[in-house]
Amino acid sequence: MTGTMEGVCKMAPGPGAEFRTDVPIPSITPDQVLMKVHATAICGTDLHLYAWNEYAATRMKNLPIVFGHETAGEIVEVGANVTGWKVGDRISVETHIPCGHCLQCSIGNPHICDNMKLFGITEPGAFAEYAPVHKDCIVRLDDALTYEQGAMLEAMGAGVHGVEKAQVKDKVVLVSGCGPIGLMVIGACKAHGAKKIIACDLFEEKLERAKIMGADIAVNSRDAQAVFDAVKAHTVSGVDAAIDITGNGKAINTGLKALRKAGIFVSVGLPDGEISVSLTEDIIYREIVYTGVSGRRMFETWEDCMEIIKTPGFSLEPVIGGIYKLEQFEEALAAIRGGVPGKMILKP
Ligand SMILES: [Zn+2]
Ligand SMILES: [Zn+2]
Repeated sequence: MTGTMEGVCKMAPGPGAEFRTDVPIPSITPDQVLMKVHATAICGTDLHLYAWNEYAATRMKNLPIVFGHETAGEIVEVGANVTGWKVGDRISVETHIPCGHCLQCSIGNPHICDNMKLFGITEPGAFAEYAPVHKDCIVRLDDALTYEQGAMLEAMGAGVHGVEKAQVKDKVVLVSGCGPIGLMVIGACKAHGAKKIIACDLFEEKLERAKIMGADIAVNSRDAQAVFDAVKAHTVSGVDAAIDITGNGKAINTGLKALRKAGIFVSVGLPDGEISVSLTEDIIYREIVYTGVSGRRMFETWEDCMEIIKTPGFSLEPVIGGIYKLEQFEEALAAIRGGVPGKMILKP
């Protein structure tokens, strides 16, 4: 396919991005398909790319580039080496593009590949009408899902991967942070059979949404003691698992102290720099299992997410903050910065 399209581009190093109507429609390699984009959600990472922090500066080398990676659409062109996919297939996209031959790829962990490329960050992405997608990163969208729900899967997957690691079935779980991913984590804990979910956040509006998603107890964590009191009231000796989506040092320490001995702590949120934790008192002597997640398992977590979305009682409605046209990109960003809850979705 040739011609031009609309797209939101990072034009040069430094803050900002540009909506343009003269972006060349990407030509695909034999290992790619071309996807007509139907919906792309805005990620926290996109805000970093826009602002041009260190993460952006060290990874975004191929400028100008269309960014955006949480997306869903349909295949309109198939590369010569791509089998099993045809024009018209409804798909979503895994952001992590694995090399296929490193140690992690060879032991079944392609999502943490040692030579990973990133769709919409190091490679062209989906804030546009069309996007090139590597054959190893295509996910078939369940017929029951809309494209908007499909665009939520990537971010949901990061949280659900955390839920998988926390092994929440029949457990009391503490979820710290009730932004979009936290809300999906709460819904996923419920769908995975958690016995009780204690949610905490600093904002009452988010705590209200946490209850809608299935949190049994919602506590304002401005005062850590309120969290400990809730944990004490609802457990024998602490929560069985804690999932942190905040990346905040204080929240992580509160979560660790709220855990029972031999509990599991999962970090989904990324701390800004180093944080301080008492290894001796809060991890070693209490035999805490501490782990993190990087993206989603390919593709078990994706299947898990689609099953969760189809679970009766689960709804993504409270998680979607607004739907904007591609050209309203700046308005959507302003809404996020203004604290409007939920994920913002762009549609070409
Ligand atoms: Zn993302
Ligand atoms: Zn690899």
